[in-house]
Amino acid sequence: MRAYMFHGPGDLRMEGVEPGKPGPGEVAVEIKAAATCGTDLKSYRRGHPTLFPTLPARFGHEFAGIVTEVGEGVTKFAPGQRVVAANTCPCGSCWACTIGRESLCENLQYLNGAFAEQIVIPKAIVERNTYEIPETLPFEAAAPLEPLSTVVHGMAESGIALGDTVVVNGAGPIGQMYIRLAQLRGASVISADMSAGRLAQAEAAGAIATVNLSEYETTAERAAAIRAITPHGRGADVAVEAVGLPEVWEQTVQCLRPGGTAVLFGGPKAGSTFTVDAVAMHYKEYKMVGVYHHAPRYVQIAVHLLSTGKFDGLTLCTEVRPLDALVESLEDMSRGVGSKYILRP
Ligand SMILES: [Zn+2]
Ligand SMILES: [Zn+2]
Repeated sequence: MRAYMFHGPGDLRMEGVEPGKPGPGEVAVEIKAAATCGTDLKSYRRGHPTLFPTLPARFGHEFAGIVTEVGEGVTKFAPGQRVVAANTCPCGSCWACTIGRESLCENLQYLNGAFAEQIVIPKAIVERNTYEIPETLPFEAAAPLEPLSTVVHGMAESGIALGDTVVVNGAGPIGQMYIRLAQLRGASVISADMSAGRLAQAEAAGAIATVNLSEYETTAERAAAIRAITPHGRGADVAVEAVGLPEVWEQTVQCLRPGGTAVLFGGPKAGSTFTVDAVAMHYKEYKMVGVYHHAPRYVQIAVHLLSTGKFDGLTLCTEVRPLDALVESLEDMSRGVGSKYILRP
């Protein structure tokens, strides 16, 4: 079968490999749709020490498909079932897992290899993070389960409530998911971004107002422009950072109303720091939450949102392409041409 192998930064090759055979507890899946992700682009450019400790390695982690074969002892799944799986599974027994903080699991097991014709899901992920999907849910819409699950995690930490004004900083795929989910919670959403194209998508996703940040120079000016269109100019009840740049982390905190919550979601690069006005932090009682990854409970909610159509996964997809368009798609993402491509083997 055909599978992409990652040989190092800038070096992804489609190769012929032996299809995997499911061992005890494992499940083999014929991949019908695989989605590109910002993490794939980062890994392709710079490598990724936790995702790819040894090279060459299979590549890609967002996929949906059909079960073709199950290993010994598997009772939950059978050939012919349509499934989607998360890219990791917490161990359930480390310190973090036992206090209910599974996104911080010390032994997260990763699954890579979505950009291929077939994948074998390891036992732990079969048991705790693989889900059947209904006939009505297209594979292409189900594939982006992982990022949606992380956004569901962010929503759970946000405290967004009915009638809130929410500012989402960044209107890429993650920002678009926050815009839609915050509305499901009954919030009015303001979207801020540098790109007119992404802001148009944010409006289509239901943002009540947009701010084109390219019209302002400093972080303070940008935050002021956002606050100016919140009720009474007070600031956001909740502001989300969905970019991963320290200056946008700062902007996010500066968007808040007194007592507001900043959800700091986008992953900045190693060594990044950001500055907060300590006096404002004290007198305005800001709350700041870091959010990383997901947990099975959030993945279950994401599967439900996708399966019921409450969240349409296809809205994230720039274009459906054949599997051999992976490198070209990553390069298009890197040039800002598209944000998420679905590849069909
Ligand atoms: Zn991803
Ligand atoms: Zn654990």
